[in-house]
Amino acid sequence: MRIDILTLFPEMFGGVFGASILGRACAAGLMEIRTHDIRAYTENKHRKADDYPFGGGAGLVMMAQPIFSCMEAVLSEGAPAKRILLTPRGKPLTTEHARELAKEERLLLLCGHYEGVDERVMTLIDEEISIGDYVLTGGELPAMVLTDCVSRFVPGVLGSELSAEDESFTDGLLEYPQYTRPAEFRGMTVPDVLLSGHHANIVAWRREQALEKTKNVRPEMYEAWMAAHPPVVKKNKRRRKPKTDTVSPESVNTASVEDQP
Ligand code: SAM
Repeated sequence: MRIDILTLFPEMFGGVFGASILGRACAAGLMEIRTHDIRAYTENKHRKADDYPFGGGAGLVMMAQPIFSCMEAVLSEGAPAKRILLTPRGKPLTTEHARELAKEERLLLLCGHYEGVDERVMTLIDEEISIGDYVLTGGELPAMVLTDCVSRFVPGVLGSELSAEDESFTDGLLEYPQYTRPAEFRGMTVPDVLLSGHHANIVAWRREQALEKTKNVRPEMYEAWMAAHPPVVKKNKRRRKPKTDTVSPESVNTASVEDQP
């Protein structure tokens, strides 16, 4: 998958994309991430990429011209890209959405800065994505978050394809607690069940722990999960109806008479 990132601060990305899983994915050619300096496309002599907002107000707004020119140049080669603006006004990023985006051949991410971008830039954008209900100083960290999150669903990026499937949110619950060696550390022990080797019990314990954690930390997620997974009520074996037609009033009466002392 190819991801092009348009930013005023390309120098922010090197460390994040050069290390660990993303670094290996890029080295292996599974991911191709290119950053593009929007300022290099300004057409004014001071290389100004932002200006005061019409109508007044605090801060500066990123100008349309450098963004248009940069995007046109970047998109003039290679496959068509899904164009995304990182903004707190966008739809909140979810695992499901990241999984869908990972199916795209190419993404283009536009990072805002200052007060955001000139609204006319929206004519170039397919989607607006937010990484959460808070405001950061720029779109660079959100672009890194989106790239990292999407890359986990690109085949081959994680060691095991299953790794991305057994995580918080994938089945609507937060993850259960994890432990590694040693089994005892500073007097704290690993739950016995995890050392038991009993697969079914481990699965059951993990589900129970995931439910407990979700209930405490994200009650709204817990409620949604419970609504989607109503408890299975075991059906009792159907009781045979007494054959009332064979029980005559006489027989009842007889029995009652026999029972009498
Ligand atoms: N004035 C904007 C508003 O109130 O919606 C906020 C601008 S913010 C200071 C500057 C840039 O940071 C945004 O244009 C966007 O690219 C990025 N940004 C900040 N918070 C973000 C978030 N939660 N998700 C995605 N991008 C964000």
